Amino acid sequence: MTNLDPRSMIALAGFMSALMAIVLACMRRYYPPHIRGIGAWAAAPVFWLASTALFSSRGLVPDWMGLVGANTLLVLGTMTYYMGTRAFLGHRHTWRIWSGVLLLCLGVFTWLSYGWPNYEARLTFFTLVMSCIYGAQLRFLLRFGGSNFPVRLVEVVLVLHLATLLMRLGSIFAGHTGANLMEPSIYQNLYIGAYALTVLMLSIGALLMATDRLRTELEHLATHDSLTPALNRRALLQRCEEEIERARRYGGGPSLMMLDLDHFKAVNDSCGHQHGDAVLVHFVGRTLAVLRTPDRMGRYGGEEFMVLLPGTDATAALNVARRIHATLAVGHALDCKVSIGLTQWTGPEDTLDAMLARADAALYRAKAQGRNQTVVG
Ligand code: GH3
Ligand code: MG
Ligand code: MG
Repeated sequence: MTNLDPRSMIALAGFMSALMAIVLACMRRYYPPHIRGIGAWAAAPVFWLASTALFSSRGLVPDWMGLVGANTLLVLGTMTYYMGTRAFLGHRHTWRIWSGVLLLCLGVFTWLSYGWPNYEARLTFFTLVMSCIYGAQLRFLLRFGGSNFPVRLVEVVLVLHLATLLMRLGSIFAGHTGANLMEPSIYQNLYIGAYALTVLMLSIGALLMATDRLRTELEHLATHDSLTPALNRRALLQRCEEEIERARRYGGGPSLMMLDLDHFKAVNDSCGHQHGDAVLVHFVGRTLAVLRTPDRMGRYGGEEFMVLLPGTDATAALNVARRIHATLAVGHALDCKVSIGLTQWTGPEDTLDAMLARADAALYRAKAQGRNQTVVG
């Protein structure tokens, strides 16, 4: 490990930063702009790249660039990445606090380079500041990041990097710092190696987080109605097929409801289409609120909806239907009336098509018998 040349390792970290900056900049260009934070994530490796370029040029450029500038840019890149993560998760940036920290860094690095040149003190201060930024970001992700794989990956990278920073701090107090950054030592090389890997893994983490968000959004678009929170027809029918297949194996079949809003055309005609849309959204919201967790509601088309009630017989489903009628009769301005055709699964020979036909016929009877009621078919 001590055979590795710190300058080459720093150059390698710079190369990785450049690569990741390009990848993330392309992502920013092609991903939908409402996925926030990618711009900051793309800017972070640019700062890291500039910092590594200055670190590698130590001796060739003045100290205010190779020392003060390089350290401050590294801190700036790390802060920028954190701001990207905050924006991605819909939180306000905290630049006011962090720009104060950045100015402090600039002052302290300048003083420790020119006023009281001291490598150990500079290293201690730098390590503490970086630990604070990584620690703040880890705390933020643990609180608001959720538990998907990309977030967990970034959390692990942050924990490992924090451990490396602590090790470096320990090495300073144990007197193993060396004379300067370019003097090879096991601690020095471990830190620079970990830094290069962190740059790479944080950028990959950002890439995975944004891709995962896009996948989730596309999945939602493909399975949900564009107006209401109900599933779309295809997704609901697929769930019905799965449920019937499950019932064939294990028993306990589902019930199916076909719901059609009463005199909805008159609502549109008298109050306008926008009001009609609001009534549809209200109807779905109220109905979902009285359904149980495994129940699924989907829009069959227009003002017709379907509800799948897994493991439910007609008697229990009738109770759910009563709850739907009741919740739509509380006197809200958007309340509407609904007719429901209901059917239960009759056994392994029963099919989705047959259930749909029975529910449809029952709905037709509910309409014919005066609407605002449920009929079991
Ligand atoms: P019935 O009680 O017999 O069901 O009468 P109805 O007026 O509800 O039924 P009809 O089939 O005559 O009219 C359905 C109306 O629903 C016509 C259509 O314009 C309206 N509609 C369908 N989809 C939407 C939508 O997404 N938004 C709005 N605002 N209206 C819609
Ligand atoms: Mg209709
Ligand atoms: Mg209708």
